[in-house]
Amino acid sequence: MALDALARKYGTPLYVYSATHIQERFDLYERAFAAAPHLICYAVKANSALAILALLDKRGAGFDIVSGGELERVLTVNPQAAGRVVFSGVGKTAPEMDLALRAGILSFHVESEGELELLAERAAKLRKRAAVSMRVNPDVFAETHPYISTGLREHKFGIDIARARRVYRKVKEHNWLEARGVSVHIGSQIRAAEPFGAAAERVAALIAQLRRDGHAITHMDLGGGLGIDYGAATEFDAAAQMERYAQQLLQAVSKVPDITLLVEPGRFVVAQAGALVTRVLYRKKNGEKNFVIVDAGMNDLIRPALYQAHHEIVAVTPRRGAKKVVADVVGPVCETGDFFARDRELEGVREGDLLAILDAGAYGVSLSSNYNSRPRPAEVMVSGKRALVIRRRETMQDLLAVEQGWK
Ligand SMILES: *Cc1c(COP(=O)(O)O)cnc(C)c1O
Repeated sequence: MALDALARKYGTPLYVYSATHIQERFDLYERAFAAAPHLICYAVKANSALAILALLDKRGAGFDIVSGGELERVLTVNPQAAGRVVFSGVGKTAPEMDLALRAGILSFHVESEGELELLAERAAKLRKRAAVSMRVNPDVFAETHPYISTGLREHKFGIDIARARRVYRKVKEHNWLEARGVSVHIGSQIRAAEPFGAAAERVAALIAQLRRDGHAITHMDLGGGLGIDYGAATEFDAAAQMERYAQQLLQAVSKVPDITLLVEPGRFVVAQAGALVTRVLYRKKNGEKNFVIVDAGMNDLIRPALYQAHHEIVAVTPRRGAKKVVADVVGPVCETGDFFARDRELEGVREGDLLAILDAGAYGVSLSSNYNSRPRPAEVMVSGKRALVIRRRETMQDLLAVEQGWK
């Protein structure tokens, strides 16, 4: 079904995803790493829709989670998938650890000594064995937005790679813990392949050292973070990007015998599969500045406001020969930061027209909120000729249902 028909049927703002695109991107990963034992662990936080998790689960994906809630989502889709789950994040709580211990996940990616102590305590209490990978901070710089860069010593993530051996020795002191891997994640939306290679080399060297220290390391998790091109969606050569990336990783992996490679892609798999369809409410002019006011807001897609991110915006039904306009595309939320584009050239947009904000499949809905008491948009998955609502539009009743104590 075409976007305008979907917008008519389900209203706007509306998130629309292509199942085929997600499958293709996942398969690109599978093919690129076919030469090595591997598990592609989709980073659930990029887009945690059950329909997307189910689609990837059917293809044998693993999952990278950062909360107990994300684990519950994965288990909802397939309780058997627990054995393919890795648990990242700097602030795991005891109840979240218990949930993951009981489910029997593949690996805890431990980010501090305090967390290691708590995990040891919970595992002993529940009498559940836990496979542990320390998330090391490789001190590698990667060019990306400061908010999504994570691989430098000054960031809150991981433990200093120089201290890693000492922390692994501590793992040995705990009966219910086993050091099985090393993990690293240097950031998100990284376009160059070299920083991934540099981090992988450091992890490979550490694994060799840890094995000499007597740890039975079986997996090497090189994180997610492979970027896409938000500027030129149609020209982005995903296959070439993947090839450069995989080559860097596999080169490091080849130096480590008997190892399973784990990667944790989020954005690369789902970002370009999704668009946010929105309707133009008003056109207006303040001084010399043109504004296109749309019915989607920063609560639906916060990336421009949060990361100064660029999203291409196109007319769903272009008006041929219409006069071009340079305008800010803004939402109805009462914040100056509520914009999707600034000084963007658009083809003659009129009130009532539909616009598609492209590459919104990752960190769109998963970062959305109800700010300004705005119910979240519906989400639709297109699969061949079929379009399926995978999350209905929220209602005000949904929002009010959890409130109490005011009467
Ligand atoms: C966010 C995150 C990912 C996914 O990052 P992308 O840039 O979406 O690929 C993978 N691993 C960890 C630990 C993360 O925090």
